[in-house]
Amino acid sequence: MSLTEKLQGAIREVADFPKPGIIFKDITPLLQDPAICSEIVQALARPFVGSEVQAVAGIESRGFLFGFLLAQYLKVPFVPIRKEGKLPWLAHRQSYDLEYGSAVIEMHRDALTPGQRVVIHDDLLATGGTALAASRLIEDAGGVVLGYSFLVELGFLPGPQLIKNSGIPLHSLVQYKG
Ligand code: AMP
Repeated sequence: MSLTEKLQGAIREVADFPKPGIIFKDITPLLQDPAICSEIVQALARPFVGSEVQAVAGIESRGFLFGFLLAQYLKVPFVPIRKEGKLPWLAHRQSYDLEYGSAVIEMHRDALTPGQRVVIHDDLLATGGTALAASRLIEDAGGVVLGYSFLVELGFLPGPQLIKNSGIPLHSLVQYKG
């Protein structure tokens, strides 16, 4: 069985969470299987092994789970991108639109050095608002976005196309079409 098939089998779909009409892709069953976790990390790393990657930035909170392991595997620093008000030190901030209202993410100002090449990782790409706000944060800190990495891509939402339009490589392990 391919890793994609294993992931499709293990990711749990929860209807109407956190609100009506959303089918939530729950990755927590994956965390109970150390063998699949190590396959996931290797597969996430594959496009970046031997590349110029110099850091992985993971987005709170599910982006921390595999983002940190990915950084360790690639032997590069991990940078946490957090929700508003969680970081203790001076931070850059970016707001982005949600379906209703807006949200803010932050990253420490000294998390990157100018020119540092960064891979952005999160569990799932939907509208792309979060990932594109993360890329603006990295650019504010003088970093360069080398690529995007996700476990899951929702191909029926705008995120994948928006990222492809940016010209920066996008890698994901499972794509859902509908
Ligand atoms: P977006 O900014 O719309 O691309 O949403 C991405 C963020 O929201 C990620 O951090 C995901 O964890 C979360 N998210 C959005 N939609 C879903 C979904 N259907 N299932 C699980 N997580 C989701």
